This record gives sequence, C-alpha cells and structure tokens, in this order.
Amino acid sequence: MRNYAEFEDRLHAACASRGVSRTAGFVDGRPVFHVSIHPDAAGPPALLIAGTHGDEPAGVEAALQFIERASDAYPRVLFEALPCTNPHGYVHATRENAAGIDLNWVYDREDLPEIRALRDVVAGRRFRFVVDMHEDWESPGYYAYELRRGAPYIGGELSERVSCVCPINHDPVIEGDRAVAGVIHPEPYAERREHRGHGVPVALYEEYTDHLLTSESPTSLPLQTRVDAHLAALTAVIEAHVG
Ligand SMILES: [Zn+2]
Repeated sequence: MRNYAEFEDRLHAACASRGVSRTAGFVDGRPVFHVSIHPDAAGPPALLIAGTHGDEPAGVEAALQFIERASDAYPRVLFEALPCTNPHGYVHATRENAAGIDLNWVYDREDLPEIRALRDVVAGRRFRFVVDMHEDWESPGYYAYELRRGAPYIGGELSERVSCVCPINHDPVIEGDRAVAGVIHPEPYAERREHRGHGVPVALYEEYTDHLLTSESPTSLPLQTRVDAHLAALTAVIEAHVG
C-alpha cells in the first residue's frame, strides 16, 4: 500500500510558500486535494490533473514535484491542480476507484465523489491549457494525446523536449490512433463516447479549454525518468502559452 499521509505532507509543505490547498471532496475518508499555485497571478489559469488511474503513480509524483519546485519558474501562471484524483486507487495501486469504476470514462456520473471534486474545481472556469497525466504499462516509450483548437499543435516541440529525458514511442499507430513522433491528435470522440462512456479529457476539452494534453509515460522505465518525461511535456505546453 502507498502512504497517502506522506503525499499529504509533501503537498502541504509545498503549498505553504506557493499557494493554497483545500479539500474538494472525500473518498473513503481520504481528501481529494485541490491546490492553487500562485493564486494571485493575473494571467489565465491552467489546470493539472494526475492520478485518475491509481496504478499510474508517475503522474502523481510529477504533479507533486511540479508543485514543489518546477512551478517556481512560472510565477505569473495560476496553476489549479488535482494532483491525486483517485486516492483509493493510488493507495491500493488499482486503476479503478474503490467501487471498481474507471474514473476516466464516467465524467457524466454525478454520484462519484472523485468526479464531483473535479466538477467542483472546473465549474464556471476557462483554462488556458489542461495537462492530464497518465501512464501506459505496455508502451516502450513516452507518447501524448494533443487536442487544440484555434492555434497550431505543439506536438513536434513537445516530442523533442521529452526525448531529451525519456525514449519516445515512435510507432506509427498507438492504441489504435495514428501517431507522429509519439503524439496523437485524435478525432473528436463521438464514437469512443458511445463505446466507453463520457471521457474526462474530452469533457474538459469540450467545455473548459482550447488546449488539452494527455501525457502518457511508459511504466516499464524508472519512476524518475517517467516523472521527468511528464515535467518536460508540461514545460513544453507552458512555454507554448507563456513563452
Ligand atoms: Zn491512465
């Protein structure tokens, strides 16, 4: 079992000098934390999400390390973060929540505390970009899904930046989608919604942002390599927006 108290301690220590944390909900007595880093920043906010799948710990660790250190480089950006959206899954290393539900495909379920916490954080907001951190147990290298409207994709720069710290998955087709240098620009998800439910990333892209990146690190590599891959991808997205 992973230690949630240790996660909470690190989060609170990091927030002490950089922002504020609050509880957006409770799951089996464990808080779902919502953190605002640089809460007084004037620019449009960004949203970071990690840990939707509890057996993908690199995203949670990357979100923590970003809050602890890397966010210091961008004092003018307000980062809203849900660094561990599935506390039960994180503690027990399960993809699903305690009820066996894959939270990534049930954005329309209003009875789930994890989804209610997310909805509470995004309600009425518009984010300059959203980065959602995941892992893939089968991929030999890093890849990402990028959705963007109204401006060019940044997949090329992103791939180049991540390749400095982590191998890229160069397969021409990843998870059934065409990919170039480890970046997939998926078609609108009507078909997938029909088959798999209302996806969290799609819902966020449809209602709350014009630029969404789903970052996927390869679980077979060392934890810090995967964390560095997520942080490199996040840096590429931030710099595309704030230079
Ligand atoms: Zn995942």
